[in-house]
Amino acid sequence: MASEKLPTAGNPIRCKAAVCRKPGEPLVLEEIVVAPPYRHEARIRIICTSLCQSDITFWKLKDFPAVFPRILGHEAIGVVESVGEDIDEVKEGDTVIPTFMSDCGDCTDCRSKKSNLCSKLPFKVSPWMPRYESSRFTDLNGEVLYHFLFVSSFSQYTVVDVAHLTKIDPSIPPNRACLLSCGVSTGVGASWRTANVETGSTVAIFGLGSIGLAVAEGARLCGATRIIGVDMNPNKFEIGKKFGVTDFISAGDSGSKSVSQVINEMTGGGADYCFECVGLASLVREAYSCCRKGWGKTIVLGVDKPGAQLSLSSFDVLHNGKILTGSLFGGLKAKSDIPVLLKRYMDKELQLDEFVTHEMKFEDINKAFDLLTEGKCLRCVIWMDQ
Ligand SMILES: [Zn+2]
Ligand SMILES: [Zn+2]
Repeated sequence: MASEKLPTAGNPIRCKAAVCRKPGEPLVLEEIVVAPPYRHEARIRIICTSLCQSDITFWKLKDFPAVFPRILGHEAIGVVESVGEDIDEVKEGDTVIPTFMSDCGDCTDCRSKKSNLCSKLPFKVSPWMPRYESSRFTDLNGEVLYHFLFVSSFSQYTVVDVAHLTKIDPSIPPNRACLLSCGVSTGVGASWRTANVETGSTVAIFGLGSIGLAVAEGARLCGATRIIGVDMNPNKFEIGKKFGVTDFISAGDSGSKSVSQVINEMTGGGADYCFECVGLASLVREAYSCCRKGWGKTIVLGVDKPGAQLSLSSFDVLHNGKILTGSLFGGLKAKSDIPVLLKRYMDKELQLDEFVTHEMKFEDINKAFDLLTEGKCLRCVIWMDQ
């Protein structure tokens, strides 16, 4: 089957996509045309996609780097329909996970174990394909539709650069595997790869949305004994417990003390690892303030507003020897780390089922936007009917 060329290869494909035509307005389900892949690219039939917070951010954003009309979606799984020239890594029929981060395997950074920040196809919020600065999508009037995070999975077919594709075992349920395309990988990876949480350590997580819960899940897998969750919503403790959260601080309810004071007292001098998963400079300061002196590590995962600045006391930095670092895609190298996480799911170690609160059809995609905007879901998986 794999060696046989499908009749669509080399030709444009007409299919259904959910197009974001105006900021904050419901996506429009319409027929679009997807061009064949260029050199180093593959055209993918999306099996399912899930909604991530960055889709909401760029759906609402009115100004650059937001551009319209655009095909959002960046957490997905699919099957290769056809490939462009010079690709031997994937072929027609392979099951793949696209990722917004590239893993070219060839540049200095990809060859180093110390980084997942590819410098050949560096991460940026671009409206184009990563290698050629052009789009593979047009609407039926011939107007260009922009890409999103090099994935654009809210379409039955999309084109992705091979550096952004990870081939996976096709027997893994797609409605679970797709979660490793962005959110869950980012959180679990932040504990596992960026922080390198050790057995017996104490972790504090600011913000228990999907990313924060995935950080907890990663910390639980790494053997953390105390996982402190901080959130404005007290109902988050119950859900947090499923992912290993042992203690909870209701952020609006810590009385005259700041959350960092409460954590410093609870832990006798600060947590070993603090994770900021909201995207607020003030919370990064709080997290850094309750990280243990000498070896504490604060990891920033939240996406703040463009231009936001951090301010820290330079005495605090000098006297306390703490580490502050950011983490994109949890520090994971997609092609080698996603298969490891999928194996841990199949071995019943990593929990993925618990993240999926809703599943729906492609035509109901706007309901998924409502659910995530209203904070009523963790992950909503959307099945692409063909
Ligand atoms: Zn690279
Ligand atoms: Zn995402």
